[in-house]
Amino acid sequence: MQRRLLLLWMLFAMPAAAQTVALRAGHVIDPATGAVAKNQVILVENGKITSVGAAVAIPKDAQVVDLSNEWVMPGLIDAHTHLTLTEIPGKAPFEASYLKEGSALRGLRGLHNAQIILQAGFTTVREVGNEANYACSDLKRAFKEGWFDGPTMQCAGKIIGPFGGQSGNIPPEQGEFWKWEYIDADSPDAIRRGIHENIYYGADVRKLVADNSAFHYSEGDLRVAVEEAHAAGRPVAVHVYGGAAADNVIRGGADSVEHGFELTDEQLRLMKEKGTFLVGTDFPTAHLAGLSPSNDVLANADVLGKKIIDRLGRAHRMGVKMAFGSDTVTEMPGRTRADMMMDYLAVWRTAGVPPADILKAMTTNGAELLRIGKERGAITAGLFADIIAMPGDPLEDVESLRKVNFVMKNGKIVHSPK
Ligand SMILES: [Zn+2]
Repeated sequence: MQRRLLLLWMLFAMPAAAQTVALRAGHVIDPATGAVAKNQVILVENGKITSVGAAVAIPKDAQVVDLSNEWVMPGLIDAHTHLTLTEIPGKAPFEASYLKEGSALRGLRGLHNAQIILQAGFTTVREVGNEANYACSDLKRAFKEGWFDGPTMQCAGKIIGPFGGQSGNIPPEQGEFWKWEYIDADSPDAIRRGIHENIYYGADVRKLVADNSAFHYSEGDLRVAVEEAHAAGRPVAVHVYGGAAADNVIRGGADSVEHGFELTDEQLRLMKEKGTFLVGTDFPTAHLAGLSPSNDVLANADVLGKKIIDRLGRAHRMGVKMAFGSDTVTEMPGRTRADMMMDYLAVWRTAGVPPADILKAMTTNGAELLRIGKERGAITAGLFADIIAMPGDPLEDVESLRKVNFVMKNGKIVHSPK
C-alpha cells in the first residue's frame, strides 16, 4: 500500500515532459504583409512557436488541434485600454469612477475585463493610466504568477499631467484626490520625478496628458519626458486632441499621439515624417454618447463621431503609422467590453481602411509601438504562441473577428471551438 502511494507521489511530483501542441491551420494570415499561407502546421512548445510550415512533421506524442477550416492569425493587441475603469453611467462626472471605487474593486474589475477580452482574442493590451493606485501593476503580476489567464499587459501607472490631472473645477475643500490616478508635474524636474516614481511602482509605458486643462506642456517639457523615458527603454504615449499642444507633442518626440481627434493634415504629415504612431481611439458615435462630457471636445457625440472617421481616413491615406486603441470605458446593456471593442471595426471600415490594414494595426503595428515585435505580434518560430482563429476570413470581412473561437496565450489554449 505504502509503496503504491510512493509510486503515485513520484508520478505527480515528476516534472511533466513539455507537451508539444500542433495546430493544423487551414489558412494562416501574416498581418505584416496581408499574405495567406494555406494548410500550415504550427508547432508550439514551452509557450513558444517552434516551427511553422506546410511540410512540418507532427511529433507522435503531440496534442493536435484541428483548425483546418479556420483562419488563423496572431493574437490581437489593443494599445489603449483602461481595464480597471468603467465610467459611472448617467452623466456622472468623470471623477465619480475613482471617488466611488477603491483600488481592490478596480483590480477585480480589471481581472473581469481582462478575462473577457482574452477570450475574444486580445492577447496583449497597453494600459494607459486611470488604473486606480497602480492596480494594473498588481494585475500584471497576478497573470505572471499564473493565478489567472490574462493578456500580456503593459501599464502606464499614474498619468503625468499639469496640476489637477484630468479634473476640472473641483472645489479646494476636496483636496487633491486625483493624486491616486495622476501625478501633478508642472516643471521638467517634476516630470522626471513622475517618470521615476512610475517606473519604481512597476509601470512600463509613460503616459502624459498634454491638453486636458488650461495648461499645455511645451515642446521642451515633452522632450524632457521623452529623453527620460527613452533612457529607461520605455515609450511615451501622450493624450492630446490637436492644436498647438499637438504640435508640441509631435515635435517633442512622443512615440504615440493618443486620440488626436483634431489633427490637421500638416500635423499628420509631421507624424508620418517622424514615425509617430497614431493611437486614434476611434470611438463609434454610439459609444461617445455614453461618455461623460468632461471637456468641450467630447461634448457633441455626432460632431465628434464624424470628425473621428474623417481624421482616421486622412491618417490612413497619408500613411501615418497607426495602432488600434479602443479606450472603451463605458458599458452597454447585454454587451461585453470585448463586443464594444469590436464595434470600432465599423469605424475603421467607414473611414475606408481595408481589412488587411486594420489587421496590421491590431497586431504588427501594436507590437512595434509596444516594443515587443521580437516577442509577439506574428506567427513566427521563436515568438510567444499568442494565436487566434475564427471560421470566417477577416481579410474579406473584418467583422469575422467577432467570431474568434480559438485563443492560445503563451502556448496555452484558453478558448477552443465547441
Ligand atoms: Zn484613454
